[in-house]
Amino acid sequence: MGDKFFSKKYCDRCGNVLDARTMSWFNEDTICMDCFEKESEIKKKLQDGEKSYEGCGYIPDVDEKGEIK
Ligand SMILES: [Zn+2]
Repeated sequence: MGDKFFSKKYCDRCGNVLDARTMSWFNEDTICMDCFEKESEIKKKLQDGEKSYEGCGYIPDVDEKGEIK
């Protein structure tokens, strides 16, 4: 986590103002809590597989059955 993380004003993913910020699980993005919630949903669908996607560099597109598209 460098200076960039703290100096950013806008979410890397959706462009919203960053009131609160966190790092993406999947890539280097600094994201807002809305996007964090979306990632949490994806992680839930990945279930045990989420570990292998940490820092993978993209956001996995998972369907309702937990299958990666
Ligand atoms: Zn966002």
